[in-house]
Amino acid sequence: MTYDDERDPMRARELGMDRPIARRDFLNGVAVGIGGALASQWIPGLDWSADAAQFAQDTPGYNPSALTGMRGSHDGSNDVAHALRDGRFWASAGRPVNTNEAYDLVVVGGGISGLAAAHFYRARVGKSARILVLDNHDDFGGHAKRNEFRPGGRLWIANGGTAGIESPFTYSSEALGLMTEIGIDVPALTAVYQGLQGSTFFDKETFGADRLVVGTPGGGRGRGGAAPATWPDFLARTPLSAQAQKDIARLETDKVDYMPGLSSIEKKDRLSRMSYKSFLLDVVKVHPDVVPFYQARTHGLYGIGIDAVGALECWAYSYPGFAGMALDPVANGRMSYTAKGDGTPKPAYNFHFPDGNASVARLLVRALIPAALPGRTAQDSVLAKVDYARLDQSGSPVRIRLNSTAARVRHIGDRASAKEVEVAYGRDKKVYTVRAKAVVLACWNSMIPALCPDLPDKQKEALKYGVKVPLVYTSVALKNWSAFKKLGINGASAPGMYHTGARLETPTVIGGYDPTPKSPDDPILVRMTRTPCKPGLPSRDQHRAGHVDLLTTTFATFELKIRDQLARILGGGGFDPARDIDAMTVNRWPHGYAYEYNPLWDPDWPEGQSPCEIGRKPFGRIAIANSDAAAAAYTDSAMDQAFRAVNELIAAKAT
Ligand SMILES: Cc1cc2nc3c(=O)[nH]c(=O)nc-3n(C[C@H](O)[C@H](O)[C@H](O)COP(=O)(O)OP(=O)(O)OC[C@H]3O[C@@H](n4cnc5c(N)ncnc54)[C@H](O)[C@@H]3O)c2cc1C
Repeated sequence: MTYDDERDPMRARELGMDRPIARRDFLNGVAVGIGGALASQWIPGLDWSADAAQFAQDTPGYNPSALTGMRGSHDGSNDVAHALRDGRFWASAGRPVNTNEAYDLVVVGGGISGLAAAHFYRARVGKSARILVLDNHDDFGGHAKRNEFRPGGRLWIANGGTAGIESPFTYSSEALGLMTEIGIDVPALTAVYQGLQGSTFFDKETFGADRLVVGTPGGGRGRGGAAPATWPDFLARTPLSAQAQKDIARLETDKVDYMPGLSSIEKKDRLSRMSYKSFLLDVVKVHPDVVPFYQARTHGLYGIGIDAVGALECWAYSYPGFAGMALDPVANGRMSYTAKGDGTPKPAYNFHFPDGNASVARLLVRALIPAALPGRTAQDSVLAKVDYARLDQSGSPVRIRLNSTAARVRHIGDRASAKEVEVAYGRDKKVYTVRAKAVVLACWNSMIPALCPDLPDKQKEALKYGVKVPLVYTSVALKNWSAFKKLGINGASAPGMYHTGARLETPTVIGGYDPTPKSPDDPILVRMTRTPCKPGLPSRDQHRAGHVDLLTTTFATFELKIRDQLARILGGGGFDPARDIDAMTVNRWPHGYAYEYNPLWDPDWPEGQSPCEIGRKPFGRIAIANSDAAAAAYTDSAMDQAFRAVNELIAAKAT
């Protein structure tokens, strides 16, 4: 049975929509009323007279990681930003309250880049430097967020966003130095589920029939150590048409030079100017039914499908079709930063903390405000509890203020002679101001023109160029994983479905954290990813469409889609979503990865002329960081940009 009518109450009940699960935003059993759920009402309601009794982060037991339901860009986190964007903010904001606070540095954005900027600034200026970090979310870390679950009483930790430390190129000495200083020396400890294989779920809406096909050609061994599936065996079990099966087998196994007579340089240039979809249809000449099988394969890295990703990019990731084309194995030519780096051999490196790079953010916070995270090592930080009430204390040289969105950043007086910058920020129904000798804007770069309208027009245009990539990382806590065990799978890619994949979490056992299930009856996490986009449009328009999709989709819709999808994929193993789901968290990132230049859609800018290079230029006592400033969505890029921004302030004697 398929389900695509959200208004079908019978099916909704069958899927368990009426079951109580941990999905609402509750904190220690109390609905979050300050800075959280209710904050979403403060701009539309314009109740400027109301006072927040206490700031949420200062309340005992505050732990946003334990919240389930809609996380990531959670409700309320973007109200100020969207009101600013729409020109509604200042008309309704009232007079700012002057806090009379003066800092050496204010950092806007408490992601990896903002926290790294605070770290680098202290390293240069001294540990007594007074620093304030502002972030609009109810937790620090930016995309590097932590989710916690307790199915069956056992703690499961997951990354809500940024997962891994690896990057297309090796870390710079500055980024590596920072990692070492905060205690990260990576041990590789990964539990492996023996005897389970990958699989593909073909959905009725896309492929004509719901069917789970176990075993991925070229993948791991099957049940009882059986040989991996072959292409003919795999394809014969799919609902794909005979012609599509034949063409996929040809594409995957033949070694054909599809561009005879051209040099490798000429071939690579052509491949960089056509999408992988065009390569399949027009060069390899496969039947159009083949396309849906590959369409979403590029989603995880690019946020868009093969219609908008260049064929040369796909060559870098060993997609089929290039084996007989005698292409120079060096990753050169018109390629994105990511493909060029990933196509360049480097030491394999796949450690990740249970909460991904939220641990990097937590360790940065420990280095900046030691009392906020007890312990001494990266390992012991995994189970350590953040004391959020310590983050913003008046006696501390470094303060981190959450639920606080910067709304205006301007020099006090003439920029050339100004000694200070004023930062106005919205928090809990009020606008406040603070002053600082210097500011690092480590926030999303496309918002900077709204914060600093005095910037030159060319710089503002450049800052607005990149459109962040929307993504969703969903975690579902299950009471058991016996359906996976029965089906012999550790996950399924689902190229046509709402979430394009679901897989069992493999926990990193570290620092006393070990949720590894002892039997299929034990609880587990399932990880699912969704990348909303609109095939057929240019890349940036696809991302814009994805933003709208994410910001207009309710949690209830997500929940229904998740239940339906898991029921259909795992139904053959006895899975019952009404019975087996314990909790779910949808990490919604409408403004996800930094926009990376795509050779298919963006010009080949000369050195120094790309939008991120023009956009990140310092402006008096204001410098610009964030991974957006590198047009590269990586942790090391976020750190490198922080390092550059801090050095620019020091060079400008803005300290
Ligand atoms: C789902 C997902 C998975 C990822 N996986 C990886 C990975 O595995 N490895 C990797 O290296 N990278 C990954 N990334 C990329 C990730 O973005 C970078 O690694 C890095 O964390 C970016 O840090 P940042 O500080 O530059 O930006 P962000 O993390 O975006 O932090 C910026 C912060 O500034 C805040 N902000 C914006 N405007 C304002 C304002 N006006 N006032 C106050 N605060 C503001 C934002 O809300 C945010 O909290 C992933 C990203 C996403 C979304």
